[in-house]
Amino acid sequence: MGRYLGSSCRLCRREGEKLFLKGTRCMTYRCAMERRAYAPGQHGNARKAKLSNFGLQMREKQKVKRIYGMFEKQFNNYFGKAVTTKGVTGTVLLQMLERRLDNVLYQLGFATSRKQGRQIVSHGFVFVNDHKVNIPSCQVKENDEIALKFKKKGKKTVDDNLKFSENRAVPAWLEIDREHYKAKIKRLPAREDINFPVNEQLIIELYSR
Ligand code: SF4
Repeated sequence: MGRYLGSSCRLCRREGEKLFLKGTRCMTYRCAMERRAYAPGQHGNARKAKLSNFGLQMREKQKVKRIYGMFEKQFNNYFGKAVTTKGVTGTVLLQMLERRLDNVLYQLGFATSRKQGRQIVSHGFVFVNDHKVNIPSCQVKENDEIALKFKKKGKKTVDDNLKFSENRAVPAWLEIDREHYKAKIKRLPAREDINFPVNEQLIIELYSR
């Protein structure tokens, strides 16, 4: 599946908030949102027009899509699955996104961003229930056991990431054993485990048009 190759900071500036797409860099003065907190482009700094309802709905969808690093088609697929799954559609959608393996690595602190989580998975370092998994969108399940195994490369990066993330709380639905590079999915994520501000109702309204 393709991935976005353009500027990540541009996406934050478009959404008007820090989406933390670049890991360690997002915490420094080099963050573009700290220096140019307005939309990208020639007229980005001009007076902002008030967003219509449609605009608000669209921005919320774009924000979530960008946080999890996916393209329109992939996001539409997630939404389609959420609609046909039992439960509250907005919550199911967020749960499905949260259960992606690249996101799980980020939440555990093995990666400093979801993008880096995706890279660690694609490089073949991640095992789920003792099976190598190199698909970043793989959905974890309750009681799954995750382990990172290294050959020559990768360990130093993950050690640095764990050090960088040590003050970031691991969500309650996950359990980590940093020393042995292992983790367990204690339960599926609940709505209150989503740790960034999102109004999923706006996304539902957008797709209901
Ligand atoms: Fe967004 Fe991070 Fe870039 Fe800041 S440094 S604008 S948070 S991607």
